Amino acid sequence: MNKLVINASLCKGCSLCVDACPKKLLRISSDKLNEKGYHPIELTDESACISCAFCAVMCPDCIITVFSPPKAGKSN
Ligand code: SF4
Ligand code: SF4
Repeated sequence: MNKLVINASLCKGCSLCVDACPKKLLRISSDKLNEKGYHPIELTDESACISCAFCAVMCPDCIITVFSPPKAGKSN
């Protein structure tokens, strides 16, 4: 399961989430453009994401969804 789902088509490239990530895992794409004409964000290393959701909380357009990985030893 992905830890982060980014609705890149709605991103306006404001960088608020980039600055909020404590692990510095987000960046503005240099080569992609979305339908709105903005460079959307991209996650550079999903394995390093700690699912803290700071990025999702910071996004004014609520386009980031964060999923927490299941806790070790928990069966449900
Ligand atoms: S959930 Fe936390 S660690 Fe993961 S990308 Fe967002 S701010 Fe960074
Ligand atoms: S805060 Fe939201 S709109 Fe701004 S760059 Fe990040 S994902 Fe895109």
